Amino acid sequence: MSSPIPLHNTLASDTDWQAALRDLISSPAELCAALDIPPAALGWSEAARQSFPLRVPRAFVSRMRQGDPRDPLLLQVLAGAQEMQPAPGFSADPTGETGSANPHPGIIHKYHGRVLLIVTGSCAIHCRYCFRRHFPYADNQNSRSEWSTALEYIARDASISEVILSGGDPLMANDKQLAALVVQIADIAHVRRLRVHTRLPIVIPQRITEGLLQVLTHSRLQSTVVVHSNHANEIDADVVAAFARLRTAGITLLNQAVLLAGINDSAAAQVALSERLFDAGALPYYLHLLDRVDGAAHFEVDRAQALALHQEMAARLPGYLLPRLVQEVAGAPSKLDVGT
Ligand SMILES: *Cc1c(COP(=O)(O)O)cnc(C)c1O
Ligand code: SF4
Repeated sequence: MSSPIPLHNTLASDTDWQAALRDLISSPAELCAALDIPPAALGWSEAARQSFPLRVPRAFVSRMRQGDPRDPLLLQVLAGAQEMQPAPGFSADPTGETGSANPHPGIIHKYHGRVLLIVTGSCAIHCRYCFRRHFPYADNQNSRSEWSTALEYIARDASISEVILSGGDPLMANDKQLAALVVQIADIAHVRRLRVHTRLPIVIPQRITEGLLQVLTHSRLQSTVVVHSNHANEIDADVVAAFARLRTAGITLLNQAVLLAGINDSAAAQVALSERLFDAGALPYYLHLLDRVDGAAHFEVDRAQALALHQEMAARLPGYLLPRLVQEVAGAPSKLDVGT
């Protein structure tokens, strides 16, 4: 057994992001007031909010434009009336994650060599297009016993060389919990890489605490953090500082985005995002086509249009700043490039 990872100052730093988490906006009236937008201008739907609550940290709201109901950050969190219109081809589980790919609680094993470990079902922000909006997990921490079943599964399969902490948002767990988990993962000899899929560095940049950096760097595992940002406006000075802390600690930093109609479906928006990410020390990794989840049909960009947009990006960006345009297809051995 490894000894626990030493943690310094984590109580103080955990306190900061947890305070931001307790103080987030969950009422439409408060969101309207913060942005100086009359409620009638928003196209708000109470039924949509009932099906997936409004949840957005103040730091993210502070990057939205005042008085603009079409702001690209606002549209990602706004529970709009369009969500309630049924759309053919859209379902509650478009990626097949509740079926055979999810045979063990807390694990999704779809691709060779890597598994998703669901650390927690909760998130700091509720993104309206998210395929997890209907995912059947409770809004709380996985129990330690569920983690241990998941870890046993990983230990039994020597083909698994990478563990991806996912959710929800895995960084909703505190540094102490993550430290305990990473120690146990590092104890499995065939696991070499640790990846964290998270939106927290974007929406609450204080989440990148000293304690977290220690968790990610004080084991034999090589760590990658894949953040999730969809628009250049999401990356302000605080996010840049959070990325810098990760990069200074030697962590590989990548971004995944979702292509969203009315939010980032222009070459100009995508080029700006790639350049902003690189300025901040992150490389664009994936640009996902929307998963066809109930309530998100109004965000869909059609395939041909997505492909044309991607070709336009290719003509304007260096190769290393061009994310792969991919699609999640149930049963496929990897994410699939669109257009192949
Ligand atoms: C996206 C995803 C991964 C990671 O895929 P990469 O191509 O390695 O980034 C792993 N497991 C599941 C279930 C996924 O959806
Ligand atoms: S899992 Fe990611 S995309 Fe989905 S709601 Fe949480 S933060 Fe948003």
